[in-house]
Amino acid sequence: MTAGRHAVVLGAGIAGLLAARVLSEEFARVTILERDRCEGVQARRGVPQGRHLHGLLDSGRAVFEELYPGCTAELVRRGATAAEVLVHTRWYVGGARLVPTSTGLTSVIASRPLLEAVLRRRTCQIPNVRMREGITVRGLLGDADAVTGVATVADGRAEDITADLVVDATGRGSRIEEWLTDIGAAVPDTERLDVDLGYSSRLYRHRPGQLGGHSSVIVSTGTNGRGGGAVHIEGDRWLVTLAGMLGDHPPADPAEFPRYAATLSAPDIHEIVTDSEPLDDPVPYRFRASLRRHFDRMTAVPGGLLVIGDAQCAFNPLYAQGMTVAALQAAALRTCLDGAPATLAARFYAASADPVAAAWRLAASSDLSHPGVIGPRSLRTRLTNVYVAQVQRAAHHDPVVSRTFMRVAHLVEPPAALTHPVTAGRIMLRGSGFAYTRATPS
Ligand SMILES: Cc1cc2nc3c(=O)[nH]c(=O)nc-3n(C[C@H](O)[C@H](O)[C@H](O)COP(=O)(O)OP(=O)(O)OC[C@H]3O[C@@H](n4cnc5c(N)ncnc54)[C@H](O)[C@@H]3O)c2cc1C
Repeated sequence: MTAGRHAVVLGAGIAGLLAARVLSEEFARVTILERDRCEGVQARRGVPQGRHLHGLLDSGRAVFEELYPGCTAELVRRGATAAEVLVHTRWYVGGARLVPTSTGLTSVIASRPLLEAVLRRRTCQIPNVRMREGITVRGLLGDADAVTGVATVADGRAEDITADLVVDATGRGSRIEEWLTDIGAAVPDTERLDVDLGYSSRLYRHRPGQLGGHSSVIVSTGTNGRGGGAVHIEGDRWLVTLAGMLGDHPPADPAEFPRYAATLSAPDIHEIVTDSEPLDDPVPYRFRASLRRHFDRMTAVPGGLLVIGDAQCAFNPLYAQGMTVAALQAAALRTCLDGAPATLAARFYAASADPVAAAWRLAASSDLSHPGVIGPRSLRTRLTNVYVAQVQRAAHHDPVVSRTFMRVAHLVEPPAALTHPVTAGRIMLRGSGFAYTRATPS
């Protein structure tokens, strides 16, 4: 541990908590600065997405478990469900159900506030980590060469906090460009993909035996750009999220909610919402664009500053990648703490570039399969999308393809796993239009 060194983490969302956990191994003191007051298992103002379905991919869960041993069991003790991804949950992709088969993947089904509460409790128990709530970061201290702390305000009082390392984990609304400009530093290029996605989510009472005993159902956005999910979360509740792309947003009107659910490409979610007692009114959320700030491409970043989580790359939520990429970034950060502090940022962006890029490519390529999404469609993207459609058709019938498809989506295996000769042969055989028949849900 570096004697006397102080790291400050901005934001106590998933990325901030994971970063603080990792930095506690190297820094003498880690302070988390959070604008909200975080109490118990509650949705809060700074994380409005917390009211909506948050799927945790298995590669993210594995990092959570590495950093917080036993956290999966703790989540289950607190009411979450741990499910084999294709056995205990139903996945509809491309209009039909993926073959139920063992994938070796565990899905932890919980509300976002519960996931966060468990990580927060464990992080705040670390002796050299301190969390300050109700404090807002207003800017950076330092200059283009080195960040030396942050300017904050709490209860109307301004306070400068010095640090050897500042980590921006303030989420997709981060004001990092403005803060960098204020200290005379360069700003990164930003890549943006407009999807104009709308979510609407509602809680229902869960009864044993519903959905044939399965713990969740996911209906991916079909050709009409509509999709959704219903997951059995803590407190014996269904969290139902409906989603629609390109301005075709699901309604927040309780009477309209089931009608939109009826238009999805599988009936399961509609059955749940018409067969269960609603516990609240639908809550809407609008997500205009995926954003990627390319710190990895900058030739000069100020020393003493890292940007992590959604503040660096905010993914289309449909693919459930955000928390997992934050976890993979934290794991990458852990591998590069040894070495000169002045080059930590360069080491971190290099070490985390691959997982961020891989997730971004998967999501962007899927978004671009919708003709209305505007963006560059290279020949590679178009060929990939033709192939992915074949993969999906094959995955409706072939357990090997369905298993590999899910493992790629969970960022456990690289997309190349779908072009391995044995799998590719099965995809060609089962995924051609001629072999296609609609799978029947069990
Ligand atoms: C509708 C929706 C659904 C999603 N679904 C999924 C999903 O299924 N699976 C998944 O993995 N990901 C999902 N995500 C993404 C996921 O929420 C994030 O990727 C993940 O939580 C990491 O975010 P973060 O910690 O970087 O930022 P956030 O979770 O946004 O946290 C940022 C924190 O910073 C604090 N803060 C902000 N500004 C300041 C300031 N100036 N001073 C002090 N504190 C500040 C905020 O209060 C907040 O606590 C979804 C996102 C959305 C929008």
